[in-house]
Amino acid sequence: MAYRTGLVYDPIYLDHDPGSYLIRYTDDFPFGEVEPHPSGPVVARRTHKLLQALGYLDHLTPIPMRTATNAEIEYVHTPEMRTRVERISKHGGDVGIGAPIAAGGEHIARLAAGGAIAAVDAVMTGDVRNAFGLIRPPGHHATREQSLGFCVYNNIAIAARHAQRVHGLQRIAIVDWDVHHGNGTQDIFWDDPDVLFISLHQDNLFPLNWGKVGDTGADGAQGRTVNVPLPPGSGNAAYLAAMQEIVLPILEAFAPELILISAGQDASVQDPLGRMTVTVPAYLAMTRMIMDVAENVCDSRLVVLQEGGYSNYYAPFCAAAIFQGLMDDPPEPVMDPYSPRSEVQPGAISVSGDQRAAIDAVVSMQQEWWPVE
Ligand SMILES: [Zn+2]
Repeated sequence: MAYRTGLVYDPIYLDHDPGSYLIRYTDDFPFGEVEPHPSGPVVARRTHKLLQALGYLDHLTPIPMRTATNAEIEYVHTPEMRTRVERISKHGGDVGIGAPIAAGGEHIARLAAGGAIAAVDAVMTGDVRNAFGLIRPPGHHATREQSLGFCVYNNIAIAARHAQRVHGLQRIAIVDWDVHHGNGTQDIFWDDPDVLFISLHQDNLFPLNWGKVGDTGADGAQGRTVNVPLPPGSGNAAYLAAMQEIVLPILEAFAPELILISAGQDASVQDPLGRMTVTVPAYLAMTRMIMDVAENVCDSRLVVLQEGGYSNYYAPFCAAAIFQGLMDDPPEPVMDPYSPRSEVQPGAISVSGDQRAAIDAVVSMQQEWWPVE
């Protein structure tokens, strides 16, 4: 039997190696110590092991990855950026700003972009209904001209352009719930009215000064960028309210022909790089919400891509919950290893005043273009 949820995964993705780094003596951090780069392979590897332990691997259709061509990389990046990444990859190093790779690592970045393309192909040809690309390195910070913040090539942007150019789609929606702002994706589609970009992120976390409520797209593409900056501490209640009040009605009104998710798990309560408090049940619920819209507007076509997620202990469970949401008949539900503690934190129970104000600010900004209230 062919299962209707696809998985793009290959152990070679684990070979992307951002290395170690020295925490230096600074005012903030008054001692030095070497530690593994946060964007190491552990989360992807453990997620895959967890999928196996849950019996999910046997209920997923494997989608072979492939490499992305130069032309596909240049759907969204300048030739100068691509050749810079290739040049630095000969010996390894930082291919942008905070985007280290090992010698030869450009090859894996291309396989990540190609894996995103393969996921789109599998969904568009009807081989699967939806697909999850468990790919590395991540992509959403990479702009047209620059790798940034652990991201080499912008996998999701390349996937969106591929859907347009090869499969003839016009309207694509990208929902980005990684805790950081998807500045690269926003940059690439800033002036494009055919690509709707919605980002839920911790307000002004990274990159600084991106993802403001008032950043709504260039002239001619106004309202096609929807930024939802939430205050630190936001949890399941605020995220689900933002989904219900902003993301879902805008997606329904835009009626994309394909939905893509930058599905980082670094808004989780355990994440060392974020300060949000999202837990496993919300990742499941957000996935199901977007699937419902996809069923209404685009024949359930949905592609989910891994981005950030830095808790080696918790992010794999959040990722598995996304799989649970995507699958028709998951063998068993994902148990939250921090339950019941995770259900009783404030962010899981109620929307605080500052979170409510943040959501309301987006509604009042975006209601010029969308049926939100
Ligand atoms: Zn992130």
